[in-house]
Amino acid sequence: MRIVKPGREQKGWSIETACTGNGNGGGGCGALLLVEEADLFLTFRNTFRNARDETTTYVTFRCVSCNVPTDIQSVPLRVQEAVRQRIEAEKAETARRRQAESEREDREGK
Ligand SMILES: [Zn+2]
Repeated sequence: MRIVKPGREQKGWSIETACTGNGNGGGGCGALLLVEEADLFLTFRNTFRNARDETTTYVTFRCVSCNVPTDIQSVPLRVQEAVRQRIEAEKAETARRRQAESEREDREGK
């Protein structure tokens, strides 16, 4: 394939947002931040609703300036899904490393 006329530059998802501490007790420093997909992680809170416990998932970033976490609402679903998959992959990788480490220790008779 060849490009006849270049289209717009494809960038990953990002958003300009303020550090507010929203959903995490406030206390953000108010800095305006450019938050990218790689900055996001998931947080979970249990609430008691409709006579049962429900877990709500929030998409969160941590301010590079003051370290306060802020929840953001306006994250597209596909980005949320990508964050979820990245975290799952990281968890699997950590588990795999631990497993390899313990097998190595077994072999070495520790
Ligand atoms: Zn901050």
